[in-house]
Amino acid sequence: MSARIIDGKAVAAQLRQQIKQQVEQRLADGRPTPGLAVVLVGSDPASQVYVSHKRKDCAEVGIRSFAHDLPSETSEAELLGLIDQLNADPAVDGILVQLPLPAHIDTNAVIERILPEKDVDGFHPYNLGRLAQRRPVLRPCTPRGVMILLEKSGIELAGLDAVVIGASNIVGKPMALELLMAGCTVTVCHSRTRELEAKVRAADLVVVGVGRAEMVKGDWLKPGAVVIDVGINRLDNGKLAGDVEFASASKVAGWLTPVPGGVGPMTRATLLQNTLDTSER
Ligand code: NAD
Repeated sequence: MSARIIDGKAVAAQLRQQIKQQVEQRLADGRPTPGLAVVLVGSDPASQVYVSHKRKDCAEVGIRSFAHDLPSETSEAELLGLIDQLNADPAVDGILVQLPLPAHIDTNAVIERILPEKDVDGFHPYNLGRLAQRRPVLRPCTPRGVMILLEKSGIELAGLDAVVIGASNIVGKPMALELLMAGCTVTVCHSRTRELEAKVRAADLVVVGVGRAEMVKGDWLKPGAVVIDVGINRLDNGKLAGDVEFASASKVAGWLTPVPGGVGPMTRATLLQNTLDTSER
């Protein structure tokens, strides 16, 4: 078997185009430009790249972005003060605080300070709780991006046995909640899971978000399985690799996302969609 490759780059480009048209329509109707505040604390190189992508994406679709680049010694109280200001600013529809934050700042306190209706990352306990109740408002970008990819690929999810590898608050856990809401029977695996390979082999759908290059091999998979690779790992040769071994998996899976060009672009496009959604509300 040769897997159908799910082109996240193309689906994300379509989504951005749609968002751009909706933003233009808002302006034509005399409604305000959607605004996204992007807060970066410190100078982590990977975070700087992610933030610059987010600002560029906003410019492409006509969303106004407000840059708040703070030094790494910013105190938690100062950051919370900025969040309060952004919460109160009517020009700001969405607030994104780039993670990870420096170790002296309590990440949960910052996430919980963002008004749930401006929490475009969907990390606030209110938004995760709503997702758990099957009444989502703002949904975390990566899992929502995966759901859009699955839908656009025409994959019927109801009744599938799904395995999610990774149980973080930003990827694995909300991913499991999304799949549960879509009617899958979901098993969540993590670093303490026993007999991981056997669980993966029984799955119709596998989502991997661990951060270990090429951990899942083709011979772990059920033939024809849908395989979504969220992992992004930098190899010693400088290339990017996912958490799934692409060469062997593509011979066994029915559907497979590449890295790069799979889930990553969808995460970025979904942030824009969440920002537009907040401004529409
Ligand atoms: P994390 O470190 O917070 O969580 C990793 C999870 O993997 C944990 O639940 C841990 O228990 C589990 N795990 C670790 N080793 C394991 C093992 N051997 N077997 C099974 N489970 C194991 O990471 P995260 O923030 O969830 O990110 C995971 C990966 O996804 C990273 O590569 C990250 O770069 C990538 N990521 C990609 C996107 C995207 O847009 N494509 C977005 C977010 C994260």
